[in-house]
Amino acid sequence: MIKFRKLELCWSYIGKIGYSSQQVSIGVGCTSLGTVTHEIGHALGFYHEQARYDRDSYVSILTQNIQSTYLSQFTKQSFSSMVDYGVGYDYGSVMHYDQTAFTSNGGNTIATIDPNYQATIGQRVAPSFADVKRINLAYCNSTCSNTLDCQNGGYINPNDCNNCKCPPGFGGQLCNIAGGGDASCGTADLTATNTIQTVSASGAVNCQYVITAPVGAKVYFQMTAATFSRSVPCTNYLEIKYDSDFTRVGARFCTSYPTISLSETNRLVLIYQGVSGARFSLNYRYDPQDFTTSTSSTSTTTTTTTAAPVTSAPTTSTARPTTTTARTTTTTRRTTVTSTTQAPTTTTSSVCGSWGGCSAQCGGCGTQTRKCGTYFETVYCNTNPCVGGYCCRPFFYVTQNGNGYCKRPQADDSEIRNEDRFEKAIHPNNDAPSVIWENIKDHPKSRINGSNKGFAINN
Ligand SMILES: [Zn+2]
Repeated sequence: MIKFRKLELCWSYIGKIGYSSQQVSIGVGCTSLGTVTHEIGHALGFYHEQARYDRDSYVSILTQNIQSTYLSQFTKQSFSSMVDYGVGYDYGSVMHYDQTAFTSNGGNTIATIDPNYQATIGQRVAPSFADVKRINLAYCNSTCSNTLDCQNGGYINPNDCNNCKCPPGFGGQLCNIAGGGDASCGTADLTATNTIQTVSASGAVNCQYVITAPVGAKVYFQMTAATFSRSVPCTNYLEIKYDSDFTRVGARFCTSYPTISLSETNRLVLIYQGVSGARFSLNYRYDPQDFTTSTSSTSTTTTTTTAAPVTSAPTTSTARPTTTTARTTTTTRRTTVTSTTQAPTTTTSSVCGSWGGCSAQCGGCGTQTRKCGTYFETVYCNTNPCVGGYCCRPFFYVTQNGNGYCKRPQADDSEIRNEDRFEKAIHPNNDAPSVIWENIKDHPKSRINGSNKGFAINN
């Protein structure tokens, strides 16, 4: 039995301990769906995703940036110590640390091997499809006596044995049709031809598209425009599943453009998670462009699918200039992409103009914008504290060695107390975009002697 308690911070034991009940602490600041389910995940037996036995194929742990006392939080588990039920590594798992967890110097502590996933890790919005799939396979796999031929990573739904549970992007009884999304998103099932077509969406909608190329070909894609709140991990984004495994969360883009332009298979899944003012536009065709089959289309029709129109200011921002990651001017490919006849290019994403003026004088209360190719980048600016020691969200006023400054909290900022986060940070002139805070405390508890599972981890 799990007893939820409002104790200090957020923490849980990993797996079942003892024979009676065990506690999960949901302390102050720990009540978001993502954080609560993260703690429940621990209680149900999950380690952190980046502790998986196979994590070295997916992330690099940057130990030089980790506080030495927390190095143990990045210990890799052995293959024999965990069962993953065939569900692979998921960058979008609610159990994954964010890129600066336990940083000692503000630098990243986790780098994704495929850099396109860097802004995907660390989300605390809700459990991912793979998280839920793992739990259902572990605890409810014998609920249904029938079988279903679920496609694209779907699995039989233990709450509805006549239907599959489908990963985002797919739907239908067997997860073999495009999933759709909101009604305004237009056609969800898109067919790549040998000529460029465009798919786009905007506004506060959720849209899901499946682009299908002829069997044997791949989908070539190029994001040509994007406006999102810049944050890591992304909270609104275009997610692109170019991998062959549709179970896991795709690469989420809100701060940079993809450095890849080919799908691994003949299908590409797009998931647009929008807010007011957000938008994306993406060009696609099949690849190689001279690919021929007896049934492939040679249509030259251009289809543009447009969702709800932009309804407010085009750009919001949750990042600062110091966190901007330079985009590469070359297109890199995953080593698993083996056959192409045409080099993809990224021509519009690397040229940026100069920054405009900052809209506020202090506290990180303002933003500034520059134009990069066909889109605009907006970041926070002038992060010196305002008179009286005020900062605007997402910055918080902290003092160190007698000097006050505005700091953007990371996962485990011990110098920022909870009350600072929730009280002092509210500035009367706060008009900056807010971010969702999850994972606000992430401190370890000590190992409990005599049990290989008696191991509590705060958040
Ligand atoms: Zn945790």
